Amino acid sequence: MAPPVFRFAPSPNGHLHLGHAYSALLNFDRAREAGGRLLLRIEDIDATRCRPEYEAAIYEDLGWLGIAWDTPVRRQSEHLADYRAALEKLAALGLVYPAFESRAEIARLVAGREADGPWPRDPDGAPVYPGDAKSLPVSERSRLIDSGLPYALRLDMAAACRRVSGLTWNELGEGPDGERGLVVARPEAWGDVILARKEIPTSYHLSVVVDDALQGVSEIVRGQDLFHATSVHRLLQALLGLPEPAYRHHTLIRDADGRKLSKSDRSTGLRELRAAGSSPAGVRKAVGLG
Ligand code: GLU
Repeated sequence: MAPPVFRFAPSPNGHLHLGHAYSALLNFDRAREAGGRLLLRIEDIDATRCRPEYEAAIYEDLGWLGIAWDTPVRRQSEHLADYRAALEKLAALGLVYPAFESRAEIARLVAGREADGPWPRDPDGAPVYPGDAKSLPVSERSRLIDSGLPYALRLDMAAACRRVSGLTWNELGEGPDGERGLVVARPEAWGDVILARKEIPTSYHLSVVVDDALQGVSEIVRGQDLFHATSVHRLLQALLGLPEPAYRHHTLIRDADGRKLSKSDRSTGLRELRAAGSSPAGVRKAVGLG
């Protein structure tokens, strides 16, 4: 049997903090324990927020922690053709449509819908897409695209869910409400998620699914903040005919006030801790892996 494959997939849009250290160390330890490989993937599709100096810092901070990974590192910005191919596959199934509303227009539409009662929120707490771009005639879609308007390419969730049903995943860790074992996927709770934008042929959901499959990742170890996104990932895997990995979601490291750590909070940054004299063993201890 091929050895299991793990991956740590940070975005270079800030410096790593204790939460990243926990996730990276769990991946590293699991890979070792299972006789598997650990890959490092740089999730840098958002060119407006990602910077080369943050990427360089990721290598330095992980190396300092004593984490080793297989090379080459996969940098998402270098693989846009792979995501475009997946997007085209979904489009050929009739599951993708362009939506032209700006953020402000979406907020206005949601406010309008809320006049009749609460409008559904996705598992991250954002309102699900309230527009009806799905029903624009094809000629109108082309006209709006040709006029140069920005747009998002959205998944027709209802149509996608009609194609595949009964999706589950094997949760080796734990969801935020203690979910474990066989978990039923509920992608419909996300509404018509964005798969790509005019200027970039992918999104977090699409590229993560394509990359995990292309890289043969068999066990995904990541934070519980992505537990519910797994429903969308399982749906995309099924639609694209990709293999199903196992998932191991872990608890999040929180600050003294119980808040999720942020890349801008200096007190929990790995660079700051190192500069203040912390050791890699000290970081392991701080995240409960000592
Ligand atoms: N790039 C994502 C992040 O930094 C992680 C993606 C994943 O593990 O699926 O939060």
